Amino acid sequence: MLSSRFKFDGKECEELNEFQIKAKKEILEKIDSGMYQFENINCPICKSDNKKEISQKDKYGLPHEISLCKNCGFLYASKRLNQESYNDFYIHHFNDLDIGYSVGFDESFKSQYNNAKNSIYPFLKDEIDFSRTLNILEVGCSSGGQYRCSRN
Ligand SMILES: [Zn+2]
Repeated sequence: MLSSRFKFDGKECEELNEFQIKAKKEILEKIDSGMYQFENINCPICKSDNKKEISQKDKYGLPHEISLCKNCGFLYASKRLNQESYNDFYIHHFNDLDIGYSVGFDESFKSQYNNAKNSIYPFLKDEIDFSRTLNILEVGCSSGGQYRCSRN
């Protein structure tokens, strides 16, 4: 483990507001009831199960295991919600937990989409030739709109 502060203790790493506290409580209830299920993952790059656990929780104090692949060096979520649980999580809890107020999934997605369309794309179009075929890999980009930047 990277540090004892990453051990799962249920404590968040930053102060949560009322929406975040409510979302965290509801998520924990779904975990405790068995509605949310976890799965253990081998390295998604090289498929190795040779890993070093780095952290047992996320910044909200929820269980989320991050490991370093000792074979290829990739850092990944080695114990995570299964797809069905993630689907429910992102529809019902992610926005409240992540941004700290309730806007709903559709509104959040629309806001991020508009930010990407109105801010990110105009910036990139001067730097990248979009007339040629491009392969783009975004990792951990949410809806791709840099939501927090759009609120500043
Ligand atoms: Zn690997």
